[in-house]
Amino acid sequence: MLLALDLDNTILNFHSHNALCLEPFNLKPGQATTAHALELLKIYSLEDKKPFKHGPQMLALIRESLLNGHPVAIVSYTLFPEIIQTLLEKLGLTTEELNKIYIRGGLLSAEDQSKYGKLIHIEDSLEHFGFKKTDHDQVILLDDSYQNYMLAENQGIKAVLVPDEYEPEYTDYFKEVKKILNQSRITYPYLPKYLTNSLEISMDVSLSTETDKLTNVVGPNW
Ligand SMILES: [Mg+2]
Repeated sequence: MLLALDLDNTILNFHSHNALCLEPFNLKPGQATTAHALELLKIYSLEDKKPFKHGPQMLALIRESLLNGHPVAIVSYTLFPEIIQTLLEKLGLTTEELNKIYIRGGLLSAEDQSKYGKLIHIEDSLEHFGFKKTDHDQVILLDDSYQNYMLAENQGIKAVLVPDEYEPEYTDYFKEVKKILNQSRITYPYLPKYLTNSLEISMDVSLSTETDKLTNVVGPNW
């Protein structure tokens, strides 16, 4: 099952795309650097603020998903996907873990947002991991946007709504996601190498071909 995560106000406690477009950054798409990412995290850490919404729980969710053979993608409208790896590294992910995560950025028009939600980002992520674009039932989306949540549900994608406020008290959405992930089996054709070593599995596809895909991680092909 593919775990698809929104970035702004879902993993983060703030909106990184908007922040980078405005003062003091005033950046154009694709111009953000590691230094900008670190500056953002610094600004949103002032006065004991937390730049990540529920950092430890989100880190644990991503880590457990990868360990259990569920591929992970970041599906964001951001026009600055180039800093997402740095942000995730600061969340606590290792280089090895980061290399498995697919990042799909890219903004849609307001009209397309209300028509597709995160569908295009999700379908590209499915394809990246060797699923069919139409394998919508193999995806769980976490997003703070009610519109994206509703559209996903209508598209046959399992979706969990994340509270959009700053560090909300409600954390049960993690339980919801874990329940869905635990119920699902590791799905064809994705299967990481470290699992094939310990399990007896017969498959028609070449495992090495599929796992090689995981080393190519960073979009943005939008
Ligand atoms: Mg968001």
